[in-house]
Amino acid sequence: KLYNQVQDLKGSIRVYCRVRPFLPGQKSVLTTVDHLEESTITIATPSKYGKEGQKSFTFNKVFGPSASQEAVFADTQPLIRSVLDGYNVCIFAYGQTGSGKTFTMMGPNELTDESLGVNYRALSDLFHLSKIRNSSQDGINVPEATLVPVSTTSDVIYLMNIGQKNRAVSATAMNDRSSRSHSCLTVHVQGKDLTSGVTLRGSMHLVDLAGSERIDKSEVTGDRLKEAQHINKSLSALGDVIASLSQKNNHIPYRNSKLTQLLQDALGGQAKTLMFIHISPELEDLGETLSTLKFAERVA
Ligand code: ADP
Ligand code: MG
Repeated sequence: KLYNQVQDLKGSIRVYCRVRPFLPGQKSVLTTVDHLEESTITIATPSKYGKEGQKSFTFNKVFGPSASQEAVFADTQPLIRSVLDGYNVCIFAYGQTGSGKTFTMMGPNELTDESLGVNYRALSDLFHLSKIRNSSQDGINVPEATLVPVSTTSDVIYLMNIGQKNRAVSATAMNDRSSRSHSCLTVHVQGKDLTSGVTLRGSMHLVDLAGSERIDKSEVTGDRLKEAQHINKSLSALGDVIASLSQKNNHIPYRNSKLTQLLQDALGGQAKTLMFIHISPELEDLGETLSTLKFAERVA
């Protein structure tokens, strides 16, 4: 409750930045990250990217390459708990392909207890906090989506794995198993405050966004190019919506993309939004890293 009050004073949008480690077997160990602090990341920019020097970005929190999944979740947990107080919580993972979005949300391919991502931890937290009686199927407004009543975390994990397999995956110049689609897991929670008897409805949306990299028009054509432009358009529409929410504008441009239309209820009103932005440490990714940081700076 105290957390919610603090949050309300500060606004309902938070941005966390996570830098992934170098991966085993990577050739280059040249890094773009000059140094990290609690909430500031400083990037070293060689002259080829304009004026040589350093650039710092400040967010609500910065997680370095050695931050554990547990530590990342510890700063996410209060938000998850506010779902039970009737808030609509949205958690986004943003970043170029290979920067660690799926690692944060789900975990690595070979999951262990320690490596479980935010999705699993959030769900088991919700199931532990509430004694779930039953679930119903009202209020779904997504065409071709399936709403399934669940009663345990493993029910949801089973569904998440099916959803994961349904994601469109195609080869790109960047990464041969790059995700070219957004993946959204929504959990609706309805509860009764035992003291007041008031019914509270909250929801949690966990969104692993498509890769934010700009596609080189010389490398893709036809449907692939259209798809890439579509992804870029929906990510910038999301940025516009979050930026206008954080500036408390009167007009919020939800209608500019399907993604923001679908999440309209979740992003406005009794909403709390967390954007995890992901950074690759590699020098060769500096261009995308800077564009990710600029995107995040605009929504923060
Ligand atoms: P994305 O979903 O953004 O394309 P992934 O989550 O698939 O990226 O991460 C790319 C690779 O890096 C995967 O092999 C993943 O396990 C690994 N990885 C990402 N973040 C971390 C991290 N914080 N610690 C260890 N390995 C990571
Ligand atoms: Mg991914």
